[in-house]
Amino acid sequence: MRIVVKIGTSTLAHSGGRLNIRRVELLCKILSDLKNAGHQLLLVTSGAIGMGVGKLGLPGRPQDMPGKQAAAAVGQCELMYFYDKLFSEYHHTVAQILLTADDVRDNRRSGHLRDTLERLLSLGALPILNENDAVATDEIGIETTIGENDTLSAIVARLVEANLLILLSDIDGLYTADPHRDTTARLIPVVEAVTDEIRALAGGAGTSLGSGGMATKLAAADIACAAGIDMVITNGSKPELLYDLFDGKAVGTRFLGRSAQP
Ligand code: GLU
Repeated sequence: MRIVVKIGTSTLAHSGGRLNIRRVELLCKILSDLKNAGHQLLLVTSGAIGMGVGKLGLPGRPQDMPGKQAAAAVGQCELMYFYDKLFSEYHHTVAQILLTADDVRDNRRSGHLRDTLERLLSLGALPILNENDAVATDEIGIETTIGENDTLSAIVARLVEANLLILLSDIDGLYTADPHRDTTARLIPVVEAVTDEIRALAGGAGTSLGSGGMATKLAAADIACAAGIDMVITNGSKPELLYDLFDGKAVGTRFLGRSAQP
């Protein structure tokens, strides 16, 4: 299988922005094992800004654009340093790809991107993608930024015709209500279509360091499912669930990809 795995900031880092070493070590070990089992993986990683906040010792996520971009430039190095170190322990080679919205919107550029990703996969490398936060700004114009990695991961999954998109989040999946506030909230195991009713279940933004939330995950589901790709939301704090998922067990919430009309 060819799988795109999106790793959110809340999975990678403690709340202060420093790397959650125990979790990331386990995650890289399991992903290496899945690669050893013959799966082709691509990672879309958040955490550049969050890790930059931690590394620079800032009191919180900067609000101004140069502050965010500076934090991302520092944090992206830190991120790739850890991925390179941890995947190298299991003899896997990582490749960094930083994208802007123009790279995925322009046909010629996205064609080159697809060719590069295909070549990396055929070389056995592990592409690790993020938005190029140090240059992508929404000040230049709203159209120049993707803004969050849930959408980016779905665009990448569509581009490489992945079999599955997995979003590792700080929640087990989509619930009937906010499980932090409502004890009767139930996990929805399968979503056949992203209807208005499903959309109404999604709240706003996520954690203070990341920028996602359930709404951006449903936007990702829209893109992936329309391209015929299943998408699963599962809890990144339990990386071993990935084994269950690959063993065909029900994990988190699965959004079913729509098959092409005959
Ligand atoms: N590209 C951002 C970063 O690496 C994350 C965007 C997101 O949280 O989805 O910090």
